[in-house]
Amino acid sequence: MKYITLSFDDGPNANVMSDMLDVLEFNRIPASFFLVGNKINEDSAKVVRRAFKMGCDIQNHSFTHSDMSKMSIAMIQDEYEKTESLIEKCIGKRSEFFRPPYISVSGNMHKAIKVPFVGGKGCEDWLPEITAEQRAERILKSAEDGQIVLLHVMEENYATVQAVKSVIPVLKSRGYEFVNLPELFRIKNINPCIPSHIWTTVK
Ligand SMILES: [Zn+2]
Repeated sequence: MKYITLSFDDGPNANVMSDMLDVLEFNRIPASFFLVGNKINEDSAKVVRRAFKMGCDIQNHSFTHSDMSKMSIAMIQDEYEKTESLIEKCIGKRSEFFRPPYISVSGNMHKAIKVPFVGGKGCEDWLPEITAEQRAERILKSAEDGQIVLLHVMEENYATVQAVKSVIPVLKSRGYEFVNLPELFRIKNINPCIPSHIWTTVK
């Protein structure tokens, strides 16, 4: 059996993220969501709670989605902790992983944020000119056992919902099982806490 994790950045919101949850629910698979704190409000928090109840894990992707690599330790902690307290208020627990905005990392960030950092394999799905078909092709082409697929559920990004809808059955037919991020590390029996490391494939 091969394992893969779909991860989605830049939510929460009540449109694209909701549609993505519909696709995941229909296929009965979990995924990981990396939230931007300043996008958490009353409406979007409901979507986060729905994801959590579906077996998705909820992770931290900063508060303002700024490049944090030039920030002081105090500013980095502020970005991280503001989002942590909102996540905790929303689902009753803190996150376990951090994804740096723009995958831009500094020594200060590793000093300030103690949980493991997660990157992933993307398909440039933040560019409107990359069609749903191209996104799907790229995901399928680069898929491998233990991979963290990095996608976006930002506003208007419906092409990624379409792409995910089409790749799930194909990957299943190729022997992949979809698991959330903590589960991926557990199954692979790999401790994610490696200092100054950023994960793309768990192997
Ligand atoms: Zn992002």
